[in-house]
Amino acid sequence: MPSPLGLWRTAHPPLNRLTGRTARWMRRACRPAALAVAWMASASLAPAAAQTLPQWQAIAAREQPALLKTLQQLVEIESGSSDREGLERIAAVVAQRLRDAGGQVELIEPGADLYRMFDTPARVGPMVKARFQGTGGRRVLLIAHMDTVYPRGMLAQQPFRIEGTRAYGLGIADDKQGVAMILHLMAMLKAANVRDYGEITVLINGDEEISSPASRQLLTQLGAQHDAVLSFEGGGGPAGPDTLRLATSGIAAANLSVKGRASHAGAAPEKGVNALYELSHQLLQARDLSDPPNGKQLHWTIAKAGTVRNVIPALAEASADVRVDRVSDFDGLEAALRQRIQNKLLPESEVSLSFERRRPPLQAGEAARALAARAQALAAEQGMTLEVRDQPTGGGTDAAFAALATQAPVLEGLGTRGYGAHSNNAEFIQIDAIAPKLLLATRLVMAIGSGQALPAAKP
Ligand SMILES: [Zn+2]
Repeated sequence: MPSPLGLWRTAHPPLNRLTGRTARWMRRACRPAALAVAWMASASLAPAAAQTLPQWQAIAAREQPALLKTLQQLVEIESGSSDREGLERIAAVVAQRLRDAGGQVELIEPGADLYRMFDTPARVGPMVKARFQGTGGRRVLLIAHMDTVYPRGMLAQQPFRIEGTRAYGLGIADDKQGVAMILHLMAMLKAANVRDYGEITVLINGDEEISSPASRQLLTQLGAQHDAVLSFEGGGGPAGPDTLRLATSGIAAANLSVKGRASHAGAAPEKGVNALYELSHQLLQARDLSDPPNGKQLHWTIAKAGTVRNVIPALAEASADVRVDRVSDFDGLEAALRQRIQNKLLPESEVSLSFERRRPPLQAGEAARALAARAQALAAEQGMTLEVRDQPTGGGTDAAFAALATQAPVLEGLGTRGYGAHSNNAEFIQIDAIAPKLLLATRLVMAIGSGQALPAAKP
């Protein structure tokens, strides 16, 4: 696809050959938003509504190198989900950038509503929340996460680098590009003096990769307070097309624990209660709970038992990975498992189950389908292909928490295209995909905020 600036150039003479007011405007418009903030202060720019698509395309094209610089800064701060110090540093950078874009910014610490799971670190990272007050009536929530799956120290082996049309770095696709997209989207709105939205709220959390123990409640609460939610996980692979997702999988972990009784395996095996035997029985009798055509999957993936060879094991544990397409299926699967474990092989053993709801599914609703169609129309105007996927494919994201208590549209995949999330090497984003997607997200926020992209508000 030709770059937007390329398209713009074919339709317009070079900037330095333009004269008069248009030339002044275009020369200003082609500076990055960071600089544009200064020229906006001069108040000589036409109001946002008067800006044409080619003008916006030129602005977004000029924003792309600035966004790459931001990405370098974000990638060079290691921020694994358990790296509290790194998360504090990246949160401070994100907070300052949102303040610069005109937001009222709060750093939010994990609270008493934290949902603790087996892998929740002792100290979870802070959240950055920013509110931008407009003059219109519609409220938009923008979300992305600043934590990664990578532990401290990996940056030295895999630093940020640009090779050809790709920018590489750990966490660059998942989800530092999403953070950078939101920062630059807000900077562009400020630079262009777009204020006809009611309110835009930005929430950047630091615990998405560990199933959002601290941010899940706030995501649900904020989702319910806004007219639309846009989530900035990556939206498509390197070769394209750009994609939006209306559905994601719900993810849970079923953890079985069996207590038996230890005894000498050679001298007095009959005095023991073999927890490993009981666990094996439990796993086999709970191996048929998957129902793939209905989007339900339960697979035992981890088991451990015993300590040394000559002792009848007193403890055995196993975990299953659970995926569902509908929120209610969590309850159904948990109930089925609880019923199954009543049937024991060794009556003296104790069997217990914990069912960790790691994240709910996102289900495609009518409002999301309508907003996605609007996004597709905006994309078509830009010459972009935007594919809308309404079936989950096994992955889960924070969009689902934001959708849990609202009928408002929630769209996932507003981030740019890339590859290699969680891959430990070769994670990258496609540089030439940045400007079109940034522009699309910006125009979608403007259309929602001004009320053009949503049905009329109920009285
Ligand atoms: Zn992610």
